Amino acid sequence: MQSPVFDSIETRQAIIDACRAMQAAGVNQGVSGNISVRTKDGMLITPSGLDYEKMRPEMLVLMPLDGSPMGKGQLKPSSEWQFHRDILLAKPDAMAVVHAHPVYCTALAMNNQPIPACHYMVAAFGGDDVPVADYALFGTQDLSDAVVRALDHRSACLMANHGAVVTGDTLERALWRMIELETLAKGYVTALSIGTPKILNAKQMNEAKKAFSDYGLKTR
Ligand SMILES: [Zn+2]
Repeated sequence: MQSPVFDSIETRQAIIDACRAMQAAGVNQGVSGNISVRTKDGMLITPSGLDYEKMRPEMLVLMPLDGSPMGKGQLKPSSEWQFHRDILLAKPDAMAVVHAHPVYCTALAMNNQPIPACHYMVAAFGGDDVPVADYALFGTQDLSDAVVRALDHRSACLMANHGAVVTGDTLERALWRMIELETLAKGYVTALSIGTPKILNAKQMNEAKKAFSDYGLKTR
């Protein structure tokens, strides 16, 4: 298990770089994406509604995980800070959370359609599907509860009529997962448009999960 990182300029810059990488990879739309990283003192999270190009290390928001008040003089955290905090509380192994509205993930989320075992990469997210968290209004505790439920034994879920969220044991892994998830969603949507995807069976998926863990890739 990875240890939480220190709140440092390097950690803060790594979050900004990950935001920009998400933009460059085409998985982010505008300022809708947000990222958090577990630190020794809580979590560092991106501020609300700020263009990634304008983001500087001191603008990242440090929030305690135990509900105690935030340090004064900071920007407003992302409006989705509740599910970032609750995921980190529910998953002690998760060191980073990435949320975005990638087009193909969101298209499936609009249909409340999970991604079934249509590709072995589904196993990289911890199970035989990528589930859809129930709909609740953005920025609410209800949404946070739904997302935490959907992420039980998973490192990714779609969010009904909203977008997607992934976790990672490092920030790099979480970012990689979001990009892989959107690639998978795009493949699935394309496959549905030309026919009926063949679903891998439980044995085939178990083999894929085992192969990922043999590579040292934690799937949850
Ligand atoms: Zn969102």
